[in-house]
Amino acid sequence: MKLYSTKNKKNEVGFKDAILKGTANDGGLFMPSTLPKLSTDFIDNLGSISFNEIAFTISKLLLNDEIPSDELKNIIEDSLTFDAPLIGLDLNTYILELFHGPTLAFKDFGAKFMAKILSYFTKDINQEIIILVATSGDTGSAVAHGFYHTGGIKVVLLYPSNMVSFLQEKQLTTLNDNITALEVDGTFDDCQKLVKLAFLDENLNKSLILSSANSINIARLIPQSFYYFYAYSQLENKKHPVIFSVPSGNFGNLTAGLFAKEMGLPVKRFIAGTNINDVFPKYLDTGKFNPQPSVKTISNAMDVGNPSNFDRILDLYNHEYEVIKKNIYSASFNDDQTKEAMKEIFKTYNYVIDPHGAIGYLAMKKYIEEQHDTNSNKVILETAHPAKFINIVEKTIGVKIEMPERLKAALNKEKKSIRICNDFNEFKNFLLTDL
Ligand SMILES: *Cc1c(COP(=O)(O)O)cnc(C)c1O
Repeated sequence: MKLYSTKNKKNEVGFKDAILKGTANDGGLFMPSTLPKLSTDFIDNLGSISFNEIAFTISKLLLNDEIPSDELKNIIEDSLTFDAPLIGLDLNTYILELFHGPTLAFKDFGAKFMAKILSYFTKDINQEIIILVATSGDTGSAVAHGFYHTGGIKVVLLYPSNMVSFLQEKQLTTLNDNITALEVDGTFDDCQKLVKLAFLDENLNKSLILSSANSINIARLIPQSFYYFYAYSQLENKKHPVIFSVPSGNFGNLTAGLFAKEMGLPVKRFIAGTNINDVFPKYLDTGKFNPQPSVKTISNAMDVGNPSNFDRILDLYNHEYEVIKKNIYSASFNDDQTKEAMKEIFKTYNYVIDPHGAIGYLAMKKYIEEQHDTNSNKVILETAHPAKFINIVEKTIGVKIEMPERLKAALNKEKKSIRICNDFNEFKNFLLTDL
């Protein structure tokens, strides 16, 4: 698999380089030079094969020139250790539950796959690889769990002290083993700056092998395309067209769906639901892309004012605005609407949805009303378990909800973090001498 930079199509690299680098030298994002088409046979028979078999077939087509089949099989088996069930709400409306992984959010799919791929590509290096991750909460814990107990790799998480939720902090600080949590006296931006400085520091990079598990790494997108195929495989009536609604922030999840369609999955339309951080729906309305500072909402994993995968979407459709509009519909909703939707879904379907999934539901509903499309299969991606947002969910629907065991377990463990000042030299010394 060759990949080019969104800033220069001639700038091609292999998959291994793209994974290790994260972003292209020219600052662009990596895009697959070609996406293989799956056979109609494969699509027609999706209903009779497992999630792992689907993932293996697709990744073999994508990566076989760089990773031998048997290794690829192991990588899939070690990373897809949890399900993505399709739950029917009514006759043709479904929820695709993507929260059955260790940190209860869809990011577990990408993080775990990427960890296994990275560990495969670095297995012959004698020195330990150190992954630096600045996190405002969720990404860090998905990455940490993805790399947990992976030999030859250490993860250093930097999170802003007092600025992540109690639950998030527990998920970040209770793993130990090859995961170290640094609690930084500062903001998320300070954490990000420390990581950036570390990558630029010559001295540090001479003695250590530093890497990032950046959210724009292509290895995190690829496995996310698998579950679109798997969702389709679980539909009862595959003759009707399918529409996916994706609660979106950085638009990685949506981009993975667009990849799935390019690879032959018959999708009628994608819907991108956003909260009031509405740069993308505004773009579809006006043709103008105007990044904004992000605004805080109750669907906080989608509080993004400058979606990082936008350039990939532009590139995929050759910057053709009309084609983008034909493939993607988008709408934004505020917190009150989100809460109303959570109540409505609970009352109508007796289903507890989290604030992010509720936005996917709202966007789907608006689309169906506008298009009078009652015939299609409607799949709403539920990106996090409601217990991750237990306070807001319980308060909104007025019912106590059950905490999954894996979350309870983290809550009962002791927090272990190392407190550091917002000072690069202190951080550098820690990496050189204390890690
Ligand atoms: C990260 C996240 C999103 C947004 O996904 P993108 O790929 O950034 O669009 C939505 N919901 C939850 C729960 C998330 O953690």
